[in-house]
Amino acid sequence: MSTQEMPPILAGIDLEEWMREALAEAEAAGLAGEMPIGAVLVVEGKIASRGHVHRERARSQLAHAEIRALLTGGELLWAHYRDAVLFTTVEPCPMCLGAAVMADVPHIVFAAHDAAAGSGRIVETVPYVRRHIKAYIGGVLEAESHAVLERFDPGLLQYIRTGCSRVDPADPLPNRAAPTAPSS
Ligand SMILES: [Zn+2]
Repeated sequence: MSTQEMPPILAGIDLEEWMREALAEAEAAGLAGEMPIGAVLVVEGKIASRGHVHRERARSQLAHAEIRALLTGGELLWAHYRDAVLFTTVEPCPMCLGAAVMADVPHIVFAAHDAAAGSGRIVETVPYVRRHIKAYIGGVLEAESHAVLERFDPGLLQYIRTGCSRVDPADPLPNRAAPTAPSS
């Protein structure tokens, strides 16, 4: 499950309990027509912030669940970042991993592995990242995350499982909705 030893802060909490909160965010994203990925930031046994993908609504490719949670962690995150745990329903992309590093959030727990981005290799091989990330744990409620992805965006599930787009296996980019002309 882990590429690193479980630090005491994670050994003492119910990872599945918090992952269910992140899955509720993923569900909310799916219902809103977004990629069904959610995140919660847990600090001192409380949810400091929540987030889910809002790319379509924000009209931004950067509007990922983890970014939203990291940006809105507020005073709890600011004061206790060393104890913060980022739960996300899909392994963080390199941008969100980088944001966690820059926010000094040292613990990342995710459900579904992402074969496309493979950020675990960054954690393992980039000394700067490895210094910051004390725990990088995947597979917590992975089947539940897969079920949410299957329900709302099977192409995305295929992509993270295989690293290949369902529409065009040679396409290295994830499936995206075709751009729509602005309504006038
Ligand atoms: Zn991301």
